[in-house]
Amino acid sequence: MIVMKFGGSSLESAGAIEQAASIVKEHLDQKPVLVVSAMAKTTDQLLEAARSAARGDSYSARQHTEALRRMHCNETRGVLGQRAEPFLRDSIAPMFRDLQVLLVELREGRPFTPQIQDEVLSYGERLSSLIVAESFRHLGIRAAQVDARKVIVTDGQFTHATPLHWDTYSRLRRTVALLARDRVVVMGGFIGATLDGVTTTLGRGGSDLTASLVGAGISADEIQIWTDVDGMLSCDPRVLAGGRLLREISYQEAQEMARFGAKVLHPASVAPALCQRIPIVIRNSRRPEVQGTRVVSKVQSAPGIVKCLTSKAGMAVVHLRVKNRGMLSSITGGLADLFAREHIAVDLIQAQEQGISFALENWPGLSQVLRKVDESVDIAVEEDRAAIWLVGEGIAHAASTLARARGALQGADVRLASQGSSSLSLGFVIREADLQAAMEALHREFFAAPASLNGRPRTSSIRTEVGQALSLRGALSPAVALKSNQ
Ligand code: ADP
Ligand code: ASP
Ligand code: MG
Repeated sequence: MIVMKFGGSSLESAGAIEQAASIVKEHLDQKPVLVVSAMAKTTDQLLEAARSAARGDSYSARQHTEALRRMHCNETRGVLGQRAEPFLRDSIAPMFRDLQVLLVELREGRPFTPQIQDEVLSYGERLSSLIVAESFRHLGIRAAQVDARKVIVTDGQFTHATPLHWDTYSRLRRTVALLARDRVVVMGGFIGATLDGVTTTLGRGGSDLTASLVGAGISADEIQIWTDVDGMLSCDPRVLAGGRLLREISYQEAQEMARFGAKVLHPASVAPALCQRIPIVIRNSRRPEVQGTRVVSKVQSAPGIVKCLTSKAGMAVVHLRVKNRGMLSSITGGLADLFAREHIAVDLIQAQEQGISFALENWPGLSQVLRKVDESVDIAVEEDRAAIWLVGEGIAHAASTLARARGALQGADVRLASQGSSSLSLGFVIREADLQAAMEALHREFFAAPASLNGRPRTSSIRTEVGQALSLRGALSPAVALKSNQ
């Protein structure tokens, strides 16, 4: 058996669903189990509908749901033709009616809790799995839809639930594995339910995690992630075009790349596959002839090679300075609790002589929240930052890699650098405005000049922008100036 996961853009239209069906037909002898995301931008739009309803804007809520209803019905008609109507009437219309009831309740004052948010968002994958299964049957594939909420068991942390592996695996073995013997099982990704049957979601992008869980639960031979890029590339194509396709990476490398911004895989999706050494293969549903990236236990390359540049924009750097170093451990403890409570990932941490600096995703109110930790601490927050990581087995121990990276980032205003939090990555925080130029300089240093910069001809290297960046360094107030870390 294999798992084939199709992301939202791989199911965005009737044509995309037909393309997915033709890919699945090529793999029928491997007994595929399909995990599907919501179609295209459905999840975003459901969220907008719920938010609009919750603030009493029924017009906007209605517009979002109408657009979704039209899109789902039109694309279904595109595949099923005249046979669409009974299916739309009996299976799809009731779902939109139920969704509407939820939104009306929200508009009338029902609290918009994380639980209700999960309930609303679950419609995306519930709809897509029904539509894909029906479309596949129409296209000659024996398919059965399974409601993921009956098999993916999670805890009750709504909006980012953690799967309960053993309950999930035992249900998968008892249901999906048996059905998959003689039909293609189609189930929605991203959604699950608590042991009491209350709907949950696994966090944005969570369909990859569902695919990996299903793969582990049914002991699949392979987990295929079908998406809109050729595989894991040496850089995020939205930041820098022309990156190289990585043929093979290790589980650890994939996990690190995903954790630091390579959105093509959900960071939590590697672990279940890794436990059973099931290969993950990332492939392009629009170019199935490309073999994609294989994520496996052992790769052939020598350690110390940079495989991928990842980045995250919208970051902030926080500098905490304490009057007395003895206070530091209680303050960092308080921070750790705060971040755990708020589900905030801190990406780069660096100890300073009189405090600590770290980078994290910026959000409104960050400064106020930080003040609550301890009034006596000096806090400085630098906004509009971006973090860049170089990822590859053993690169943190390769001195030459660090030297080359610093050389490439020579003129960038590096505010924080981390080395040693793992052997697989080196991270730097720079000004967000320098992100593209820094990525381009690093890519040129470790791979080759990228073909183009977001479709535009390549312009300046970071070095030509350095003068400006360097002068900013002096503008940092002494209270927050970093001890030289370069
Ligand atoms: P799906 O809807 O199929 O789950 P996602 O949008 O979640 O697709 O993930 C695919 C996207 O990941 C790509 O379109 C690309 O913009 C982004 N991405 C970020 N970093 C990388 C990378 N290093 N290699 C490939 N894709 C990347
Ligand atoms: N549909 C969900 C999202 O947009 C899950 C996924 O696509 O993986 O986040
Ligand atoms: Mg995704």
